[in-house]
Amino acid sequence: MQAPDQPESSRESHNVSMDETVAEAGGCAQVHLPTGRTCALQHGHDGTCQFVAPDRVADALTRLQPDPEQ
Ligand SMILES: [Zn+2]
Repeated sequence: MQAPDQPESSRESHNVSMDETVAEAGGCAQVHLPTGRTCALQHGHDGTCQFVAPDRVADALTRLQPDPEQ
């Protein structure tokens, strides 16, 4: 489910505010730079972003697509 061709890490502040992996998965993908966490809620979600730790993003994304078989 994850493309292994983009080993980009968010270790350093690169002025990155969007997570491409999350965005492609249909997520909000906003990155909270101070913490390096990413919003994995549905794109265009209501309310404020809910930032999750990097190791929680994949799990959060699976909730966006509970039925991968379309
Ligand atoms: Zn968000």
